[in-house]
Amino acid sequence: MTKNLLILFCVIFVFFIITGCRFSSGKDIGKTEENVEKDTFEIKDTFEIKNEAWINEHVDKNFLLGKVKRKDNPLFVQVDKEHTERNIYLIHPVYEAYKKMYEAALSDGVKLVVTSGHRLFWEQVYEWELRWNNPRTDRHFSDDVEKARFVLQYRSMPGTSRHHWGTDIDLNSINESYFETEKGKKVYKWLKENAASYGFVQSYTSKGEKRPFGYEEEKWHWSYKPLARLMLVKYLELVSLNDIQGFKGDAAAQKLPIISEWVCGISPEINEK
Ligand SMILES: [Zn+2]
Repeated sequence: MTKNLLILFCVIFVFFIITGCRFSSGKDIGKTEENVEKDTFEIKDTFEIKNEAWINEHVDKNFLLGKVKRKDNPLFVQVDKEHTERNIYLIHPVYEAYKKMYEAALSDGVKLVVTSGHRLFWEQVYEWELRWNNPRTDRHFSDDVEKARFVLQYRSMPGTSRHHWGTDIDLNSINESYFETEKGKKVYKWLKENAASYGFVQSYTSKGEKRPFGYEEEKWHWSYKPLARLMLVKYLELVSLNDIQGFKGDAAAQKLPIISEWVCGISPEINEK
């Protein structure tokens, strides 16, 4: 009898230990998850506030138009030779995020190469006029507005390029044909699946219902969303059509919806909070 009682006590004791642990750990897990969610929210919130403060402190109209001095400017950092074969600059937070993405891609067997980053106003003038002055471009158009529309398929007018912001990068190749090769397809697939985890979003996705206006699709052009989204808000606040001048064909800018259709003609994903 005493032996049976002892066994019964032991069974009850073990039962309470097990159920007690389960309930208590369940409660703890719930609490931990709640805290993690709260913390993540707070981190995101702080991150957003920090980015807004960064923009308000450093970005004015001239910055958005690419009219800045890069030399000895602590905002800019030169991209290491490990990441590019060219002389390329980005703004600090963007390069930090890029380096993390580069390492992750590399460990998955994908080699990313930066082919373009921050561009000064005059650098965009060079790019624009190279296409504008091309005899093959002239042959097709008698009207400057139509000619500008043609160049605008892949080239931004100086003062309207996202490359002026230091938040945008071109990766691996600016030739569509590269992204049709096995290597290019692999790079693009990796970016589509992973870039957003590092803050990067394809700016010019395929044209269609979601993106009816602007440049043709560019699989190589990626924006660092946390800052680029805020740069666009600032751009729309500070820059007007009158600021888009100082290059060949600039009169056409006044006759085209350059800001509403080209500057704003980006993937809607970039504008989502
Ligand atoms: Zn680009």
